[in-house]
Amino acid sequence: MKLTEVDRKSRVLSRAQFGCLRNAHTLNITRGCEFTCVYCYARGYPDAPFCGDVHLYRNLPEKLAAELDSPRRRSVVQRVVFNTASDSFQTHPGILDVTFATMKVLLERGIGFSFLTKGWIPNRFMDLFAEHPDLIVARIGLVSMADRYRDLFEPYTATVAERLQNIERLQAVAVNVEVRIDPIIPFYTDDKATIERLFESLSSRQITSVALSYLHLRPAILDQLRKELPPTEFNVLHSCFERKPWTKVGAATRSKLIPRALRNKGYRRFMDLAPKFGIRPLICQCKNPDLPGQLCSSWFETKKNKKQLNQKEKQLSLFPC
Ligand code: SF4
Repeated sequence: MKLTEVDRKSRVLSRAQFGCLRNAHTLNITRGCEFTCVYCYARGYPDAPFCGDVHLYRNLPEKLAAELDSPRRRSVVQRVVFNTASDSFQTHPGILDVTFATMKVLLERGIGFSFLTKGWIPNRFMDLFAEHPDLIVARIGLVSMADRYRDLFEPYTATVAERLQNIERLQAVAVNVEVRIDPIIPFYTDDKATIERLFESLSSRQITSVALSYLHLRPAILDQLRKELPPTEFNVLHSCFERKPWTKVGAATRSKLIPRALRNKGYRRFMDLAPKFGIRPLICQCKNPDLPGQLCSSWFETKKNKKQLNQKEKQLSLFPC
């Protein structure tokens, strides 16, 4: 991985324009992400750096503090969502330093945040979080207990064991922890044995609800999968989408969902197995606009989002992390 330090020129906090995050303030520590998951949507963004390059916004903490301390902005920002296009817990020490300082700026001002990560969270963050646990919702991405899945689809992320330790260590400092099972890979991570193994492990760590979503395709992701997966895995996966047309999503993005019948069947399997483990599965509405879905995180339970859930016309909203 090649890290380039850059100064952020534009405003640090921006309002998201998609799904449950609409109107939430979002924040990314880097452009590009060293984890390079094979299914990552953000790798295909027009302004994404070349694969393996990561741009770190080194002036983020100072700029964020200045923004928040401006009398015009302070009252507007109540909570922040990290990691809509990168992971703040990548392994590079420079990235972790900026993440730490940025989170500290927010917590010192009483501003809460949530993050979704597939990385390892170092101990100094646990010490910081322990001072303000009520302001934080931590979301851990975990799709399968099998190392083979991680090696193929998310090879540079934290191991399964490390992510389970994240859950335990966050709980030990009283942070609210949620788990996101996304992207579910058809015929690879949605069979009974795989789901049971994952549920058993989560249930033994007092996780009581999980967010679910199947993989989606965009043209750039299809190219990544073709290049980076072994042919057998790619062919099985591709066959799930082959007869589906590309659909325009939002302003300009073309996308494909796993056929509805296949997703329905898979989600049903998760639903049927969950009660035995005391887990409540929530189908992510943003990524399943054609199915009855739910708000997949307590963090997103705003009046506006609840209202949107009841609307008939829903739009697919994708974000990688
Ligand atoms: S999916 Fe998330 S963790 Fe993986 S490369 Fe993309 S931004 Fe990074």
